[in-house]
Amino acid sequence: MLEQKLTLEMIESLCKRRGFVYPSSEIYGGFAAVYDYGPYGVLLANNIKAAWWKAMVQLRQDIVGLDSAIFMHPKTWIASGHVGGFADPMSECKECHSRLRVDHLLEAIDVVADEKMSEDEINALFDAHKSEIHCPKCGNSNFTEAKKFNMLVKSNLGQFTENWNADPSYLRGETCQGIYLNYKNVLNSCRVKVPFGIAQIGKAFRNEITARQFIFRTRELEQMEMQYFVHPDREMEEYERLREYRWNYYRDLGIDMNKLKWHKHENLVFYAKEAYDIEYAFPFGTKELEGIHARGNYDLTQHGTHSGVDMTYLDPKSNEKYIPHIIESSVGVGRSFLMVISDSYREEGEDHDKRVVLKFPKHLAPIKVAVFPLLKNKPELVSRAKEVFQELQKQWMCEFDDNGNVGKRYRRQDEIGTPYCVTVDFDTLTDHAVTVRDRDTMQQERVPLSQLQNYLTAHLSA
Ligand code: ATP
Repeated sequence: MLEQKLTLEMIESLCKRRGFVYPSSEIYGGFAAVYDYGPYGVLLANNIKAAWWKAMVQLRQDIVGLDSAIFMHPKTWIASGHVGGFADPMSECKECHSRLRVDHLLEAIDVVADEKMSEDEINALFDAHKSEIHCPKCGNSNFTEAKKFNMLVKSNLGQFTENWNADPSYLRGETCQGIYLNYKNVLNSCRVKVPFGIAQIGKAFRNEITARQFIFRTRELEQMEMQYFVHPDREMEEYERLREYRWNYYRDLGIDMNKLKWHKHENLVFYAKEAYDIEYAFPFGTKELEGIHARGNYDLTQHGTHSGVDMTYLDPKSNEKYIPHIIESSVGVGRSFLMVISDSYREEGEDHDKRVVLKFPKHLAPIKVAVFPLLKNKPELVSRAKEVFQELQKQWMCEFDDNGNVGKRYRRQDEIGTPYCVTVDFDTLTDHAVTVRDRDTMQQERVPLSQLQNYLTAHLSA
């Protein structure tokens, strides 16, 4: 049980103190909404990505992987609608000059608004409610009118003139466009038939206006996306299957399912058939974790029109020709990471028995086993412990620690979520057994060295 309500500040502080996440460029005062993943953070993020890849590619005969480039032909973003419409409504507080997202300010006072509304629609709502809205930074209610601000990040890649800004290339705003552009390549080079999916994990970039909430909303982000190509008549049936599959994925990942819920979009873009988000109860509120959308044939039609390439699919059995419809699942690595840490964070015990422990699902834990010699200054213990460590690290990500006393080492391993700690003591030298301590129960068990690998294999997969 938590002794105190979990806050984002508690998570952020643990993440920095224990090498999970650092603010980017900290020695220069930081760089807003960009974060670096530290030694334990990169391990956790990799384990999250591996779990996603396993569920979305390895266990699926009908889905293949892809790693498309961050840069794409600039026409991509015109065809996709991002140059014209990937914009959030922004207002500035006239007192403290904070830039704020108007749809979020309205939502905070329970007025339904979203980024898809036109500038006029959002300003009408904003004007009607301005007096009830206060700047989250200075508390005043003196705002400029809302302006739509495009979130695509521009670059001069491939441009060698001063005025590159007039004809920029873009850092991708979402990974799925690389999937649409490779749909024909995959069809022609792999033995896939509709229905099939293409999955990829990669970086995307968005000029987010408000960038609080730690790694929940960053300007450089990583997405795990899967686009599934289906016959138009089967779109909604496959959509329901994908929703169920993604819901069960979180159960299998080990997430507290009481903290997840569905949110149906009421205000759909014109081409979408249906859209749901999976939301998670983060410490600062229940917010979008993943989007699952039925997108019709909009994406392939747009790229077909703008490129002149025929995007139709010829069914090899029926000879029917059609543009496949797409259903997608899209989730951020950063939001998944924040969910996993929030879900695992516990404070237990009292006074000097108090501990912070990250009770990660074991398959996600950055370090699986820590190995200690009981005392640092006894060479026979240290060398035996090193032997044990070197054997175990062939199989798992392990850590050797001989700093401080064993109690302090346990606390440190608890804070990075290590499921098992193995201690080599004086008895080990004669009985050839070690003490294994369980992170969750704190129970200790004597395990013969000859059985240690089997013991850990069984317990880590339990
Ligand atoms: P939001 O409404 O929170 O801005 P969105 O609806 O714009 O999110 P999508 O474009 O549907 O998000 O992106 C799919 C997923 O990518 C989101 O569900 C989220 O997990 C992740 N994501 C999107 N934007 C960000 C961001 N700025 N930082 C971190 N993750 C993000």
